[in-house]
Amino acid sequence: MAESTVIIGGGIAGIAAARTLQHAEIPFTLVTPQWGGRIETSQDGHTNYGAYILPDTSRHILQFATKGRRIHPLKIHFHNKKKSYRFASAILKREWELWRLLKATTYFQEEFLTFRDQCLTTPQDEALRNSEYLFKLYNTPAEEWIQTKRIANIVYEYIEEAVYMCTFTPIKDLNAFDLMQIAMYIDIPVFEFELNLEDMIGPIKDYRLDASVELMEKSTSGYTLTLNDKNKLQADRVILAVDAATGSSLLQLKHDRIEAKAHMFHVKGQLKEKHEGDLEIFNDDSPTIFISRQEDGSHLFYSTSSNPELDEFFIDPQVIAHRFWDPAFLIGGHQLISMKQNNQLWLAGDYNAIGLENSYISGISAANQIIYEIKAS
Ligand SMILES: Cc1cc2nc3c(=O)[nH]c(=O)nc-3n(C[C@H](O)[C@H](O)[C@H](O)COP(=O)(O)OP(=O)(O)OC[C@H]3O[C@@H](n4cnc5c(N)ncnc54)[C@H](O)[C@@H]3O)c2cc1C
Repeated sequence: MAESTVIIGGGIAGIAAARTLQHAEIPFTLVTPQWGGRIETSQDGHTNYGAYILPDTSRHILQFATKGRRIHPLKIHFHNKKKSYRFASAILKREWELWRLLKATTYFQEEFLTFRDQCLTTPQDEALRNSEYLFKLYNTPAEEWIQTKRIANIVYEYIEEAVYMCTFTPIKDLNAFDLMQIAMYIDIPVFEFELNLEDMIGPIKDYRLDASVELMEKSTSGYTLTLNDKNKLQADRVILAVDAATGSSLLQLKHDRIEAKAHMFHVKGQLKEKHEGDLEIFNDDSPTIFISRQEDGSHLFYSTSSNPELDEFFIDPQVIAHRFWDPAFLIGGHQLISMKQNNQLWLAGDYNAIGLENSYISGISAANQIIYEIKAS
């Protein structure tokens, strides 16, 4: 009897795994209740309610995405405690720190992009361990790293808000690897985007089973999966590509990462004068995380509060949509989660490193390892 491979999850990681197996003509079933996962858009398809920006280095995702507005550092308006300011003044005030920060981000970028290439064929945790430098960053608290690099002033004036925007988490709870993944955007163009999901799932649509997995039990030849309709599915090999929080609870994985949460409000209404930037970003003392102007004049408003004071920012605000991302992702911590759990089970997604491109690559990686093993046997 032919061996069976099951992918669980139809987000970016599951899609990547499925496309890779399909390309290699390896049969599989993809179990998912929906496509796209944390890439969710407004009804007109133009506003992203989940993942919303992509750096230019996201070469796999960019094959299926249309770039929108560039998030230009000079158009960002910073709000730190009672002060509001722009990026340009940093260059004049903090030139030595800026130089040290750029030196650190340039070095990080090189190491990080090499690590990412390795991840195509190697489990993410193993690839991270292979880089002494990145592994050290993973094990170093972000705050300690900032002090060692002597970049505290520039980070707490200009990077902290960007980190809060991208991670919904204060710097004190991050490791230096998380921090540098965001800090490196300082000299990489970053864009809003629209994902062409239909193009992405075109070749794999027919492999989908519309269901969700409620229970995974180890069996002699692999895993028995119990679905939400109580039917069972036997799998010789599984790629578990659900979000890391769900995956960790399905497998009862121990980890030390924390859950980042945020409320997203899609708001119609004019911004008050003092908040007139393309992007208003706040430091982590504030319940408001960021406000981003959309091309149709509406705004995305992110907050830690379920009931934010919108009148403080908008004239006559109307909420068109609200999502509570609970959790949005796991972040921080210093223990790596094994992407290859055993010879029958691979994890794919943002277990050790957040973001679309990392998740997509982890899906390719899990599939590549299965293809290699099938071809070798
Ligand atoms: C609000 C927010 C903003 C973000 N911003 C950005 C950003 O700007 N840039 C960026 O790069 N990243 C961003 N991210 C992170 C990015 O969205 C994720 O890293 C990425 O989408 C993870 O993809 P995934 O396939 O691993 O998981 P998911 O997208 O979560 O997909 C998981 C899939 O598994 C399915 N599933 C879940 N449970 C089961 C089950 N029991 N059985 C079967 N299927 C199941 C789900 O339906 C879904 O299809 C953001 C995330 C959030 C929430």
